[in-house]
Amino acid sequence: MRMLTALSLCLVVLLVACATDDSQGSTAEPLVSPDTFTPTAEPKATEPPIALKSPQDPFAARREAMVDEGIVGWGIKDEVVIEVMGKVPRHEFVPEQLQELAYENHPLPIGYGQTISQPYIVALMTEALGLNKGDIVLEVGTGSGYQAAVLGELVDRVYTVEIIEALAERADETLSKLGYDHITVHHADGYFGLEEQAPFDAIIVTAAPDHIPQPLVQQLKIGGKMVIPVGPVGGFQTLWLVTRANEEDVRTENLGAVTFVPLTREER
Ligand code: SAH
Repeated sequence: MRMLTALSLCLVVLLVACATDDSQGSTAEPLVSPDTFTPTAEPKATEPPIALKSPQDPFAARREAMVDEGIVGWGIKDEVVIEVMGKVPRHEFVPEQLQELAYENHPLPIGYGQTISQPYIVALMTEALGLNKGDIVLEVGTGSGYQAAVLGELVDRVYTVEIIEALAERADETLSKLGYDHITVHHADGYFGLEEQAPFDAIIVTAAPDHIPQPLVQQLKIGGKMVIPVGPVGGFQTLWLVTRANEEDVRTENLGAVTFVPLTREER
């Protein structure tokens, strides 16, 4: 009899274990499989914690995974930058048909031969600037507006310049829709910076020239920082952190090899 009770107890334990396994499997699956992924209206008690945190954002789990693997895992240390990378909805900045890929750690096409930068590079360049809340920041190369949004989460004022009018307009719409009212998009050749809003605490250039544009150096405050890829079209460029030491001099630090689309000079 005792033997029988023990046996049935084991069976109950086994059944409970199976049932638990099963429920985990079926609820965890949609979070990683793009095919079956659908927004969850009312999270059930068995769902993983990430889904409970943001039931309305179907991309929350993938964004968190991107931050864990591609941002923290690749060496970004700044806690505030990490937090912001986990907040900005990158899927809102890519073409609709590519939204499923928005949290992969690589660049994606955004039309007009241009790309939205790889999330890790966005984080790396942002971290290098060491921003403070009150800073005024200029971005050259708005593209989708994603990098501008990341900056906008960190500082009070962002100006961003884009040479392709259609991209400037689209980025402006996306940023407005998401409530980034303190980010202003300009359609212009960013080689010349944005004289009327200078000087800047920081400048970020997300298209590659073959030399450092002097107008940008001139528009940095003394002590201000610029992060910029410099090098040949179609090859690797060097990512430089440029600090304006005084009126005449800059200090430069090599942050490594990168590949960016070229900084073009003809306004279209
Ligand atoms: N920061 C962007 C990605 C930039 S891709 C994002 O987060 O999505 C580089 C962008 O720089 C492209 O949109 C390209 O059109 C723009 N660009 C190239 N040359 C430029 C110039 N001279 N002035 C302003 N923008 C330029």
